Amino acid sequence: MSDTRGVDSRTLLKRLRDTLAEAGEGQERLDRVTTLIAGSMDAEVCSIYLRRDENTLELCATEGLNPESVHQTRLRFGQGLVGRVATAAAPVNERDAPNARGFRYMPETGEEIFSSFLGVPIERLGEVLGVLVVQNETPRDYNDDEVYGLEVVAMVIAEMTELGAFTTPGEMAMAAQHTWPFFTQGVIGQEGVAEGVVLLHESHVVIANPIADDPDIEDQRLTIALDALVSEIDAFLAKDFVSSDKEHHDVMIAYRLFAQDKGWRRRMRAGIASGLAAEVAVEKEQTSTRSRMARVTDPYLRERLHDLDDLANRLLRILLGREDASERGIPENAILVARNLGPGELLDYGRKLIGVVLEEGSVGSHAAVVARSLAIPLIIQAKRITREALNDDPILIDGDVGVVHLRPEENVATAFREKMAMRAQAQQEYSALRDKPAKTLDGVTISMQMNAGLMVDLPSLEVSGAEGVGLYRTELQFLVRSRIPRRGELSKLYTRVMDAANGKPVVFRTLDIGSDKALPYMKRNEEPNPAMGWRAIRIGLDRPGVMRMQIQALIRAANGRPLKIMFPFIAQFDEFREARSRFLAEIEKEKKQGHAVPSDLKIGAMLETPSLAFAPDQFFEMADFISIGGNDLKQFFFAADRENEMVRRRYDTLNVSFLTFIEQIATRCDSLNTPVSFCGEDAGRPVEALAFAAMGMRTLSMRPASVGPVKHLLRSVDLAEARTVIDTARRSGQQSVRPALISWLASNNYPFRA
Ligand code: PEP
Ligand code: MG
Repeated sequence: MSDTRGVDSRTLLKRLRDTLAEAGEGQERLDRVTTLIAGSMDAEVCSIYLRRDENTLELCATEGLNPESVHQTRLRFGQGLVGRVATAAAPVNERDAPNARGFRYMPETGEEIFSSFLGVPIERLGEVLGVLVVQNETPRDYNDDEVYGLEVVAMVIAEMTELGAFTTPGEMAMAAQHTWPFFTQGVIGQEGVAEGVVLLHESHVVIANPIADDPDIEDQRLTIALDALVSEIDAFLAKDFVSSDKEHHDVMIAYRLFAQDKGWRRRMRAGIASGLAAEVAVEKEQTSTRSRMARVTDPYLRERLHDLDDLANRLLRILLGREDASERGIPENAILVARNLGPGELLDYGRKLIGVVLEEGSVGSHAAVVARSLAIPLIIQAKRITREALNDDPILIDGDVGVVHLRPEENVATAFREKMAMRAQAQQEYSALRDKPAKTLDGVTISMQMNAGLMVDLPSLEVSGAEGVGLYRTELQFLVRSRIPRRGELSKLYTRVMDAANGKPVVFRTLDIGSDKALPYMKRNEEPNPAMGWRAIRIGLDRPGVMRMQIQALIRAANGRPLKIMFPFIAQFDEFREARSRFLAEIEKEKKQGHAVPSDLKIGAMLETPSLAFAPDQFFEMADFISIGGNDLKQFFFAADRENEMVRRRYDTLNVSFLTFIEQIATRCDSLNTPVSFCGEDAGRPVEALAFAAMGMRTLSMRPASVGPVKHLLRSVDLAEARTVIDTARRSGQQSVRPALISWLASNNYPFRA
């Protein structure tokens, strides 16, 4: 039990609760709180600074400093001792404050006469909401119990701030959190615009009564919740796919040990003993875990802290009886807001969402691929969004420019609706083109194919007007399951795909796993560089079982119909030769067993590493077709991780080197009579698609929603002219042909979006 000088923290918290319960506006409450704390801690000064915006703290109440400075004194994070507390998210305890590092003289406050200073962050789940300070005239050190006591009080203030307890109407007031309009500029994950309401993947925890009456009852609640937590983990451990996978099992056993960690439990109990409700005690511990996590760089330790954070989340969920969004029901026009998401999680929500905003995430991740196949706008790297958004908040997202407006003002909403109306009109124009070819003014026809991978994609084949599926990502079906699918199951699935295609060609890509596509039930290899690691065809050749099963499922699904397959990530001729001969051997076996074999078989390779472009002629002759996986090819061409936002956009797809490389591949394939297509995400961007066509690509495979805009542009231009623009830009030493191409398109009023 921690005693602060003259008063124990439990008594202080009780008084605090009584004070907070008294009638009055937010400002009066804050004033009473500072008076109470100063009195209880024998301090001449107690001040509360709250966060005004991302970088500013404002003095919102004080006992002891000049009252005139309230709502006048502002500090940036890092400025002065108060700013230091906020930046470090840690207490600052100074005996001789005016001479301490970073002290900043604020004449309006009159604080220079106070020698000692103790400031603690008002912090909630790793988010600093403000700073709580006590000061004394006489030089003194605040002892550990006092620091702890002040931290406990700060925790309660944080909860009350979150609840909006300190908001006051009026000009100087701090608006309630989560009521003001919030804007954030993220990164485009998938184009499109949507207006809807927020659906949080993980709801905010709001604790109405942070101070508890009876620590014994809180202690019991915590004990029961901890028992439930361990039972949850035990139930998980008993699942087939965990018990059969040693590594997964070991990880869960370690996780279970953490849940029983004595130090962790003791620290939460200490919070309860000092008067906090069980939930707040858990949050207090979680807050310090998160601030440790922010400082620790050792990957092993970070992982362990991450486990503790995760355990605290589960514990809170148990204590509050809270459900996840997917269990809670999905409102109309829901826009999902999450820190990050796996592809399986996104699929759980499925078609019910009209948009997704991620605070982290990356463009190349498979959650992004799923968002694309669901044809909903996706914004990634939207800073602070999970912190600001509440369930059911109105939200507008503009995936064309990566912008999120939360609780938008009316004029923003109006402008936005105009944009939506214009888009709807464009969509109508695209559907009028559905059955027309993508033929340029000078008579070159580009074959428009679409990318798919999930059952939800199939209706798009009809609607988009795509001529076939140029890339069917078979791994998506593996990613969304909790165990490896069986052959019969796969065969049924592929049959449905071919049936739905109704004679249009479908190129099935064999399993492309590894790198960011980790199957939940497959042992993970700790690789230093997974994108360049054991993935795709490398796994397929080294562990042939799954690929064989998949091949059999494909042959049986074709059931005598034509079949097109391709192998991912072929880096050299032998890989293709070997994979192909295994496929052909499987055909022979199937034939012997009396199964119908495909009436026509085409076996292709994906060109995703520059090396394959320089393979011997014999490779190009053996391959029935080649498909350029531009997402991977570009990352290896520029040595720039497709998932790393720091480097991904440094290198333009229309960079002269990359375009010239694409042109060389097209020319080589042409001279060797090997059909070639481009199926990376860039094929779905009209300007890029036009440039690829100008470089000689005659087949493009893209997400279904892109077929309309790409076709619209291609039908409006003269390809030879586009090529001249590109050639001129190349000759003039430009790094990218984009500026030249865009200015040509714009000056001719061609229909395109940059
Ligand atoms: C690519 O790399 O461009 C590709 C189509 O494959 P994926 O995005 O699935 O890696
Ligand atoms: Mg790829």
